[in-house]
Amino acid sequence: MVSIKNAVSEKMVGKTVQVRGWVYRTRSSGGIAFVVMRDSTGIAQVTVKKGSVPDEDFVSATDNGIESSAIVEGTVAEDKRAPGGYEIRASRFILVGKAEPFPITEYQSTELLLDLRHLWIRSREQTAIMRIKDSLLRGARNWFHENDYTEVTPPIITGVAAEDSTSLFQIKYFDRIAFLSQSAQFYLESLIFSCDKVWALTPSFRAEKSRTPRHLAEFWHLEMEAAWLTNEENMQVQEQMVTAMLHNVADECPDELAMFKRDPAALKKIVPPFDRMPYGEAMQYLQGKGFDMSWGDDLGAVEERELTKDRTIPMFVVNYPKELKPFYMKENPDDPRTYKNSDLLAPEGFGEIIGGSERETDNELILERLREKGEPLENYSWYLDLRRYGSVPHSGFGLGTERIVTWICGLDHIRDAIPFPRTVSRVFP
Ligand code: ATP
Ligand code: MG
Repeated sequence: MVSIKNAVSEKMVGKTVQVRGWVYRTRSSGGIAFVVMRDSTGIAQVTVKKGSVPDEDFVSATDNGIESSAIVEGTVAEDKRAPGGYEIRASRFILVGKAEPFPITEYQSTELLLDLRHLWIRSREQTAIMRIKDSLLRGARNWFHENDYTEVTPPIITGVAAEDSTSLFQIKYFDRIAFLSQSAQFYLESLIFSCDKVWALTPSFRAEKSRTPRHLAEFWHLEMEAAWLTNEENMQVQEQMVTAMLHNVADECPDELAMFKRDPAALKKIVPPFDRMPYGEAMQYLQGKGFDMSWGDDLGAVEERELTKDRTIPMFVVNYPKELKPFYMKENPDDPRTYKNSDLLAPEGFGEIIGGSERETDNELILERLREKGEPLENYSWYLDLRRYGSVPHSGFGLGTERIVTWICGLDHIRDAIPFPRTVSRVFP
């Protein structure tokens, strides 16, 4: 039993193999059937000749339907006409699960494909996206492990807003209310006092009301927090970790990347350090390009596209004005209008994939900012405790895993970077 990718290869020519998979397409004429089979690794043409297989197997090969599952046994042979140049000449074709007429045919609307997402995720493109995501995440996981970070498991049900209280999902929690986590940051900040350097991969939930191609209501958030880390060191962690992710996917997934016209060799050219551009400089650059904006305006998708469209390597925008960012960031002593923070923007016009900062350690400043925002202080008592018992300088960041997948695969919409997207209009299937 071998994977389809391994079966149809030079080294298997003349050998007998057994593969398991699903019918991708099928064509028969007279005494011969050409069944293209797929598994998670690729596709292969299986030639089934009447007389070369038991009679019932020949019936199965000619009368099955797309997405039927089958076990095939046969000999691998070179054949220029087959996709990939090799085929399997069957000695057995055993139908396991005969499929009803498959509801997805060649040209389908986006809406229908979303309604049939549980079936559409079998498509070659969706399969490749999932393998690319898997590989990117392994690159990050390996990097964290090699650099002595501890993977931790923060809660998903929380009592406070980490980011923006207007995008909180509220849930009934026994006889009170609670929220779905928007970020694990506060919990990771607590955990650095036991583990020094921590990271977590968790779902984050944000009730994003505006429909953009880069926001989901539920996304997988890769977050890191480390004691003693300055904001500059925080950026070094980001550029090293992102590089490790990109190099890992370049090594592991050249075929999948090729489906999205992404050159693995170009990914290998991305190495630290990434450029660092202060917010003020980004503003001047944009003004020079004719953007009508001034200090204090946020950088949205359009501005980030302008900043990154001619770049091939990610860049940091650093030191944003305080009014644009959450209360927990550390004031920048060199320009107190700003924080010691950074957004990491992916190149080619893509934009933000990471937000990070050094964290404020002065409880007086935190209290002042919370009061300004009218936040109920009692919710934050435990967070303030972290600064009362052996406070240390510390920094961290959050990477949107679907953002980096969307960029690498050049997808039009972030919903294709997750198998079951959750958006304003969709929670089914
Ligand atoms: P944006 O300005 O794009 O909404 P943000 O400033 O709200 O992002 P952070 O709170 O810093 O983002 O979250 C960290 C990272 O999580 C972002 O850099 C992004 O990659 C990702 N992210 C944030 N919101 C979403 C979302 N709704 N869907 C998918 N990924 C997201
Ligand atoms: Mg946001």
